[in-house]
Amino acid sequence: MQQVHAKKFLGQHFLTDLNVAQKIAETTYKGQSDQVPSTNEKVRVLEIGPGMGVLTQYLLKNPNIELTAIEIDRESVAYLKEWYPELKLIEGDFLKLDLNTLYPEGEFNVIGNYPYNISSQIFFKVLDYKDRIPVCSGMIQKEVAERIASKPGKKAYGILSVLLQAYYDIEYLFTVDEYVFNPPPKVKSAVIRMTRNKRRRLECDEALFKTVVKTAFNQRRKQMRNSLRSLFESQKSKVESSERLEWFLTRRPEQLSVEEFIELTTLIENSHV
Ligand code: SAH
Repeated sequence: MQQVHAKKFLGQHFLTDLNVAQKIAETTYKGQSDQVPSTNEKVRVLEIGPGMGVLTQYLLKNPNIELTAIEIDRESVAYLKEWYPELKLIEGDFLKLDLNTLYPEGEFNVIGNYPYNISSQIFFKVLDYKDRIPVCSGMIQKEVAERIASKPGKKAYGILSVLLQAYYDIEYLFTVDEYVFNPPPKVKSAVIRMTRNKRRRLECDEALFKTVVKTAFNQRRKQMRNSLRSLFESQKSKVESSERLEWFLTRRPEQLSVEEFIELTTLIENSHV
């Protein structure tokens, strides 16, 4: 059967280096090595965008993995059905996939050499299911990997860094050059692993936390007093400002750690009553 014709609008850049593919396939275990089932209980893994199956072949070989893949491209689906008839494959859009139907209960890992054009959206969806996804790993654009892994005070530090780091431990594993893809992407790539941390619930309103982080970084150069004004405005008269809150409001978002964003959210929450 013919190779799949790469479609740009689907972010198709097929990985050709089998060593890299194998290393990526192995990332879905490490973060939970002490939980690897010794007997018959398998780890469920969902692969996003298998393409021609370069990662899939290694995932399928692993006897501890129960694999499901979702691929949007009809041509790739036909290819996969031909070469990997044993693969449980869904033809569709991961962003529209109802994960509660696919996995009515329990945990599952997410893996992929992801479509770079929708990687942020994929990670926001992972966050929606964070309590059921212990490990999310794979390859993305290097710049996005750096953002996800970035510590405060850096240019790369932003919404994805704070929201993901609030719930996941991030490992930047290795960088991958463009020439191991067909066609080569214009950007460098990186492999990361995100492992769910011990923080079950934030000590603040989690929806408000998300809003505070997003709103603050929408104007990342500004003091938060300006960007977060909208979050106070409706309750303006009731705002009872504390010294600590005042201090936060003079800062810029990239200066705040995850813990400080949680504290800031609590202060905003309390000022609402
Ligand atoms: N994993 C393969 C392909 C990577 S390219 C490899 O490493 O070679 C990204 C893949 O994601 C493509 O196969 C593309 O068709 C698929 N894809 C793009 N958008 C998708 C979506 N919304 N849902 C599922 N798959 C998608």
